[in-house]
Amino acid sequence: MDFDLLLRGGTVVDPGQGVEGRLDVAFANGRVAAVAPDLSVTATEIIDVTGKLVTPGLIDLHGHFFHRGQPLFVDPDEICLPSGVTTAVDAGSSGWATYAGFREHVIDRAETRVLAFLHLAATGLVTLAAGVGELEDLRFAQEERTRDAFRRFPELLGLKVRIQRQATGEANALPALDMARRICDATGTRLMVHISGTPIPLEMILERLKPGDIATHIFNGHEHGILDASGQVLQAVRDAAARGVVLDVAHAGVHFDVEVARAALAQGLPPTTLSTDMVKPAVARRMYDLLGVMSTFLALGMPLAEAIRGVTDAPARAIGQAGRLGVLAPGASGDAAVLDLEDGDFTFGDAAGHEIKAARRLIPVLTVRAGRRWRPRGWGRRATGAAAAP
Ligand SMILES: [Zn+2]
Repeated sequence: MDFDLLLRGGTVVDPGQGVEGRLDVAFANGRVAAVAPDLSVTATEIIDVTGKLVTPGLIDLHGHFFHRGQPLFVDPDEICLPSGVTTAVDAGSSGWATYAGFREHVIDRAETRVLAFLHLAATGLVTLAAGVGELEDLRFAQEERTRDAFRRFPELLGLKVRIQRQATGEANALPALDMARRICDATGTRLMVHISGTPIPLEMILERLKPGDIATHIFNGHEHGILDASGQVLQAVRDAAARGVVLDVAHAGVHFDVEVARAALAQGLPPTTLSTDMVKPAVARRMYDLLGVMSTFLALGMPLAEAIRGVTDAPARAIGQAGRLGVLAPGASGDAAVLDLEDGDFTFGDAAGHEIKAARRLIPVLTVRAGRRWRPRGWGRRATGAAAAP
């Protein structure tokens, strides 16, 4: 056999390489091995994906993951892999006091590739399950111990801080942000800042962000958003985008406003990355998976290739993984998503109640992870006993 897996006849869309067309994709030894028209090779498994979209494995730049028993966050393997997401970036669910456990019990056990930002708060975000903001008490922000965590765990992608009234209160917002800035400067890591519902002006946050830092929940509809009183995108937001600050969506229902996104796109300010801010959805909370977020942006007029760029090449660059993740090039990680565009009558929206009608949406067909077709745990096993699925 030449290869482990061959996806035959699909329409490859790989914006990072500017590739779009009917191509076969072969995988071997956990990596992409060949991408070319009509590969005449042998493979252990050959799947005809004619008429389907084939993209690099999707990257969700902002979600919250944990083991199944935890009340707030989601099991990455349950949510991500079934919808084509092969890399899940945890946006600071753990802090220096909890990250070692997060690594052992979530990162090391998941089939999904889980990468993580560390939270400035020692406990990460677990206090939210009890309704307590993680930095309402600034004693949870410990500069030296957080810096030390970046020395101990060099795989960390960066530092996360939430500048939100419910997270920091008013008085702690700027001290927390400035401490996060100092830690990033001292350790050479990137900063991801939650900007939704901030108690301080957005300009005060953005002026502290450097190229490669990430402003997340960019299209939120709360106070101190990206639009001025007349609905125009603030100059500070355009300046941040121009100098290379990543503008990340992180939808979450409550941190996304359809009308803010519509205004920004109309004024020539697209997001850099599309992401979910996935948590366990509260009852009646409007929440989308990554394909739902992409479909929302298609409905807002974003071209398909740009929506795919926002979940492949763009987030890969944002986390310093360009060429390894988010791309279908020989030698790159063997992750891919096979998707389809379904015609119908769909409605997307936000927690504020804005709705947008869509005549198509993206749906998952199959996922390739580490060079093999991914199947749910227990797939193909004979169902036995009362616990068997119907
Ligand atoms: Zn989040």
